[in-house]
Amino acid sequence: MAEQVTSTGAVRVRFCPSPTGNPHVGMIRTALFNWAFARHTGGTFVFRIEDTDSARDSEESYNALLDSLRWLGLDWDEGPEVGGDYGPYRQSDRLPVYAEVAKRLRDGGFAYHCYCSSEELEVRRELAKSQGRTPGYDGKCRELSLEQVEAYEDEGRDFVLRFRMPDRDFEWDDLVRGSITFAAEHVPDYVLVRGNGDPLYTLVNPVDDALMRITHVLRGEDLLSSTPRQIALYEALSTIGVSDGNTPRFGHLPYVMGEGNRKLSKRDPESSLLMYRETGYLPEALLNYLALLGWSMGDDQEFFSKEQMAAAFTLERVNQNPARFDLKKCTSINGDWIRSLAPNQLVERIIPFLVAAKLIQQQPTAEQLAILVVAAPLIQERLENLGQSVDMLSFLLVPQEQFVVDAADLEVLGADAAPTLAAAREVLVDLTNWHTDAIHEALRAALVEGLALKPKVAFTPLRVAITGRRISPPLFESMEILGKSVCLARLERAIGGG
Ligand code: GLU
Ligand code: ZN
Repeated sequence: MAEQVTSTGAVRVRFCPSPTGNPHVGMIRTALFNWAFARHTGGTFVFRIEDTDSARDSEESYNALLDSLRWLGLDWDEGPEVGGDYGPYRQSDRLPVYAEVAKRLRDGGFAYHCYCSSEELEVRRELAKSQGRTPGYDGKCRELSLEQVEAYEDEGRDFVLRFRMPDRDFEWDDLVRGSITFAAEHVPDYVLVRGNGDPLYTLVNPVDDALMRITHVLRGEDLLSSTPRQIALYEALSTIGVSDGNTPRFGHLPYVMGEGNRKLSKRDPESSLLMYRETGYLPEALLNYLALLGWSMGDDQEFFSKEQMAAAFTLERVNQNPARFDLKKCTSINGDWIRSLAPNQLVERIIPFLVAAKLIQQQPTAEQLAILVVAAPLIQERLENLGQSVDMLSFLLVPQEQFVVDAADLEVLGADAAPTLAAAREVLVDLTNWHTDAIHEALRAALVEGLALKPKVAFTPLRVAITGRRISPPLFESMEILGKSVCLARLERAIGGG
């Protein structure tokens, strides 16, 4: 079991995604845990953009990252747009820093030029495998003589900058997984800078963690194998005066598993943060659910805000077992969050979806607002996501000339329904007290008693005629909201053939 951190000095954690593709839930889980740890400890949450891979990074993805964190309310203390003492926070703006550090590492003997071509490496790797040796870089260029280097240079050979791993095992006390050891032969010398001068993640990530004085690195378990390299690089950085001599503590968050017992992939549809936003998951709900992927509040509490999470967040409660991503559970928590909203809050959250569906303008009219305030609570119990409000409420908002009955439910309005609808119209025409209870009572008397119909048989055609669907908010409340003339018009239309 991991130990609790008692760190001297203020906590500084970072979230440092690469801006490639769309934000996904795994990355947001990492952001959330770092944010909660920073907030719990009164530390600093640093947001850094690891965009040194110009072939894969995009501005669109960068914007999506910022937009997503803002939507989720994961505020950062240092980073893009907010600045900070250790900036710039986009690695593409820090290239001279990496060039300087790379030079100092080489000057200090911690890294060397490796002239092996990829074909040569491949041949030696195969050979090592066939001889049962560990197939990593074999150290060929570690101790090249000056003449050898000159000869390679004269040949015009390309080279990379390789880090010289100390010849010893690496061990650290992981904040989540406890003691971890990597044997020396499993951590070969590795590339820091490409032949074309591009610095790699292996260099820029620990260099920035050092320069930005990061104290705790909390990240996914998939990065576990890079940790011994980073610890070694840190030691070198300390010797050349780049780090302050403190190596951060590392904590590796458990894998998130998808369907069929395999890791959730960026490509799985339920991975996409955008999908949740567009479908109408509340940011509060999504964070609440992601918090449960590897952490628990205690006392079986499964419904909480990110502030409550931050107040309670300790690394002791981070579990090292893989967590299963369960969309059903996520959706059910979303429903709980939706039901926790006050009517006017619900209306506020629903409006963007109604606007996107062109049911209302950006600025709803006073009349539409009045409808929504009464109608939203009627559907609140049933909403699994905010997007569903569009189908559930459209019949209240569309102009009568655009109202259509859902094709799938048209059959309900067949010849059998005609007498029921006619009887309903007759009694409603005379109804002066247009309120839910009075409407209900009048229709019950006319249809259930008058025509001796079962309530379901009596009211289903009416529901389809008025709301356009078999499944709708409560019928009589809906009729009150719609008003008498609209209801009569819809009945006429249904009697006339739907
Ligand atoms: N940019 C890296 C990634 O997105 C960061 C990994 C880390 O947290 O060290 O995978
Ligand atoms: Zn080499």
